[in-house]
Amino acid sequence: MARVLVGVKRVIDYAVKIRVKPDKTGVVTDGVKHSMNPFDEIAVEEAVRMKEKKLASEIIAVSVGPTQSQEVIRTALAMGVDKGIHVEVSGKDYDTLQPIHVSKILAELAKKEKVDLIIVGKQAIDDDANQTAQMTAANLDWPQATFASQIEKGDKDMTVKREVDGGMETVKCKIPAVISADLRLNEPRYATLPNIMKAKKKPIAKMTPKDLGVDVTPRIKILSVEDPPTRQAGVVLPDVDALVGKLKEGGHI
Ligand code: AMP
Repeated sequence: MARVLVGVKRVIDYAVKIRVKPDKTGVVTDGVKHSMNPFDEIAVEEAVRMKEKKLASEIIAVSVGPTQSQEVIRTALAMGVDKGIHVEVSGKDYDTLQPIHVSKILAELAKKEKVDLIIVGKQAIDDDANQTAQMTAANLDWPQATFASQIEKGDKDMTVKREVDGGMETVKCKIPAVISADLRLNEPRYATLPNIMKAKKKPIAKMTPKDLGVDVTPRIKILSVEDPPTRQAGVVLPDVDALVGKLKEGGHI
């Protein structure tokens, strides 16, 4: 039976309207509702289903971030994860934390915890990087099955259906491996109140990137974060001829 490591990132809730900071260094996060990255809920659900089918023995959820990241670990524990690991990175270090750092942390933890599978979301909805799964697989030299829509886990290998442009691709790879969860993999469950209560007793280990030998010095610098351009006001035209005239004028036809 597999030991599974799941990445759970705390991000601004998908329903919140994002506001850019006036100095263009990033987006406003203070006083804004945060939740578990939606694709990570899918990753957690998949791991919990594996455990229910006796394909997984233990599930560990990792979150790299400030103290509040423990909230998303608690949610994962309430969904059925066994234990949590909070890798604390806060303040300026968190502002510049990148997939390269998270993937190194996940790789170190995978070795330390002797896991067979790492499941992460296909992308974090805040940075939209879509890099962590791929970089983690590279760091460990494990195969990767990204954008998974269906997983059939065997003892030593697994078959994964992936959504690709214009269709589905089916791949088979050896375990240990890294998987990234796509939207249609499953529908994550809601944590029930009794399970939320039970989750309070589950352990969360705390550590720092340094404890794992990972340097979080930034590799890139964010120069500016800006809102998309606002849409220009439209004009109402009296008839089709006027429309055609306007299109010709603008060189569109
Ligand atoms: P990204 O490559 O940043 O788009 O993130 C892809 C996936 O990697 C996310 O859906 C998470 O499962 C995982 N991940 C990224 N950043 C973190 C983090 N700070 N803590 C835990 N997991 C993370």
